[in-house]
Amino acid sequence: MSNQAILQSLRNIVGKEFATDVYEERSCHSYDASKQTGLPDYVVSPGSTQEISKIMKLATSKLIPVYPRGAASGLTGGSVPTRGGIALSLLRLNRILEIDDRDLIAVVEPGVVTAALQKEAAKQGLFYPPDPASYKFCTIGGNVAESAGGLRGLKYGVTKDYVLGLEVVLPNGEILNFGVRTLKGVVGYDLTRLFVGSEGTLGIVTRVTLKLIPLPEAKETMEVYFPTIQDAAATVSRIIGEKIIPTTLEFMDKETIDCVSGFLKKDYPDELAAILLIEIDGDPDVLDKQLNKVKKICLANNSIQINMARNDREREALWAGRRAISPAIYTLGGAKINEDICVPRSKLPAMLDRIDQISREHNLTIVNFGHAGDGNIHVNLILPHNFTDTDKQNGLAAIEKIFDATLELGGTISGEHGIWLSKAAYLGKEIGAREIKLMKQVKRLFDPHNIMNPGKIF
Ligand SMILES: Cc1cc2nc3c(=O)[nH]c(=O)nc-3n(C[C@H](O)[C@H](O)[C@H](O)COP(=O)(O)OP(=O)(O)OC[C@H]3O[C@@H](n4cnc5c(N)ncnc54)[C@H](O)[C@@H]3O)c2cc1C
Repeated sequence: MSNQAILQSLRNIVGKEFATDVYEERSCHSYDASKQTGLPDYVVSPGSTQEISKIMKLATSKLIPVYPRGAASGLTGGSVPTRGGIALSLLRLNRILEIDDRDLIAVVEPGVVTAALQKEAAKQGLFYPPDPASYKFCTIGGNVAESAGGLRGLKYGVTKDYVLGLEVVLPNGEILNFGVRTLKGVVGYDLTRLFVGSEGTLGIVTRVTLKLIPLPEAKETMEVYFPTIQDAAATVSRIIGEKIIPTTLEFMDKETIDCVSGFLKKDYPDELAAILLIEIDGDPDVLDKQLNKVKKICLANNSIQINMARNDREREALWAGRRAISPAIYTLGGAKINEDICVPRSKLPAMLDRIDQISREHNLTIVNFGHAGDGNIHVNLILPHNFTDTDKQNGLAAIEKIFDATLELGGTISGEHGIWLSKAAYLGKEIGAREIKLMKQVKRLFDPHNIMNPGKIF
């Protein structure tokens, strides 16, 4: 079948305007936020599950690779069409189908933007907590495929903790339903969980049933300055040790602070070496007590300044520093290698020491920030402007040492961004050969012709 004939078949399914092979469209669908690229042969934007089913049947019969795609904010190349084929945009499936305030459930299509769901739920006093920092533009489908984490993971968990059920289309076009509409359900294997975090390699998620919870009544936000990263890390351990679980417990190291300071044109005290952004939420009475305890712990661990937000405007201002990190880091060098290791939270200080040592050994700037309460560190190795192949190899050698140190400390090489292209070569460091073999068998069961996001994970 010629390319033109395939395009015509795709247009017969979705309509002329929603399937194209125009270069500009293909180019716009050739990358994600990792900046890795791969040009698809076609860009297709289906409008229903039935259309997706027909596309998948066609793709299977012609052995055409299919790359599902939400907002392409992924940081590991997940939606990048590395072997041509179809870039399948799910953005037209963007309806919130149901928010049930008695059963505390939402049913949504995969192209719904995470922030849009949160806004709609809040109108009914309900809360969908998972909030990747990209929440204003990433989609629920992408979140499910990545089991996206976020800033509230410490208290509220990550995407996988909220997915109750899924409608999916398999590579052969079959439409299946997994999971439940109830909080409990143990009938059969948990195929919902298998799909969550499967990085678009098993099938297309076309509908998601999510758990909601009541919106917390109140929240308090503070930004705390520390003279050393060890003081900040000790504060994190002490807060958790006191059985206080903040909604957010984010840290920024000295390099991150300098970078954000330049980017936002904001001055921080010279003696500052680490910042914790702490948010707690819940019942206002309990909150007051917790707030006092947290402040005492910060002071006991040498904090040099505590900035409390007195209203939403001030809260936003405190959050602005955290949100500026990603764009700010891009200004530091020619490129960054971005990893998201996760260690048991008690091992955070040891891990930061190891990273510091590796940065000196490799003469590299490494910027660390992330979800301190989860032990999840976003490690950014900055390659110089006009970097050479040797610089890149130096960065990759440093990354390998960081992964080794992470695993030695009992951690994992990805807390939330996934494996995809970026980390496929390191999978065997963390997962045993037999376990990988079993995973490949599972993949073959769902996708015997390897058309579903091929070239990823393994
Ligand atoms: C500034 C910034 C901040 C970020 N912060 C965080 C963070 O705090 N925590 C975090 O976890 N991540 C974070 N990310 C990464 C990213 O936003 C998340 O992984 C997000 O879940 C991706 O959603 P998306 O809609 O952009 O998916 P895409 O990038 O389009 O796709 C991601 C993967 O999901 C697959 N996929 C998409 N839709 C479907 C579907 N319907 N069915 C099957 N597979 C599908 C794709 O094939 C791809 O493999 C951040 C990214 C940026 C740019």
